[in-house]
Amino acid sequence: MKRVLLKLSGEALAGDKKTGFDEATCLGVAGQVKQLVDKGFQIAVVTGGGNFWRGRTSETIDRVKADQIGMLATVMNCIYVADIFRHVGMKTEIFTPFVCGAFTSLFSKDAAVKALEEGKVIFFAGGTGHPYFSTDTGAVLRAIEIEADAMLLAKAIDGIYDSDPKVNPDAKKFDEISIQEIIDRKLMAVDLTASIMCLENKMPMLVFGLNEENSIVNTMSGHFTGTKVTV
Ligand code: UDP
Repeated sequence: MKRVLLKLSGEALAGDKKTGFDEATCLGVAGQVKQLVDKGFQIAVVTGGGNFWRGRTSETIDRVKADQIGMLATVMNCIYVADIFRHVGMKTEIFTPFVCGAFTSLFSKDAAVKALEEGKVIFFAGGTGHPYFSTDTGAVLRAIEIEADAMLLAKAIDGIYDSDPKVNPDAKKFDEISIQEIIDRKLMAVDLTASIMCLENKMPMLVFGLNEENSIVNTMSGHFTGTKVTV
């Protein structure tokens, strides 16, 4: 693997607080990504928005408007995380699928790949730019577009289980599972739209816990303890 897309869920960014940012968590992520960039890996990052808002948070307002707020939450997350990355010495650039004035650059494949080749860590904020999608789907889409070797899903949970371990203490974690099986068993490790895109475009995924020490570096150096999703 040389070029990967790292998806950080909003919830994982918030640490134990569950909302907003946990600076220690974000600094930990930055330190790990810096080690990988220094070794020559090309890293693109997508953050979720769930630490601030999800479109399905509100049953009162129009879904399209609620999703727009969700997409803007991911822009805030990327501005924050990108600046933490800069603080530890990385060059960064944030791309959005819609114009955000001087805050971000407008996404194109060519501009994104050029930035990666210049050694920048790039961020894809704003999801797909469309309502009724998730950041998981936006992440798979961008991973495919930039021809990433794999998608790394860093979550608040340490892999994919056969049932929810928060509810079922006997839930079993998979070391490896195919994307087809995830779809068939409705495991919802990623949403269905994202799963289908992974399947159709043969994008493998590595799912692991962000809160485990050094988990991103370990994943990239073969000491992987999460769930490998094959295509
Ligand atoms: N969103 C959207 N279109 C996209 C990506 C995201 O409308 O292409 C909105 C949607 O409302 C979603 C929110 O942004 O609930 C935050 O993203 P997500 O729930 O995927 O974040 P995560 O659960 O990964 O933190």
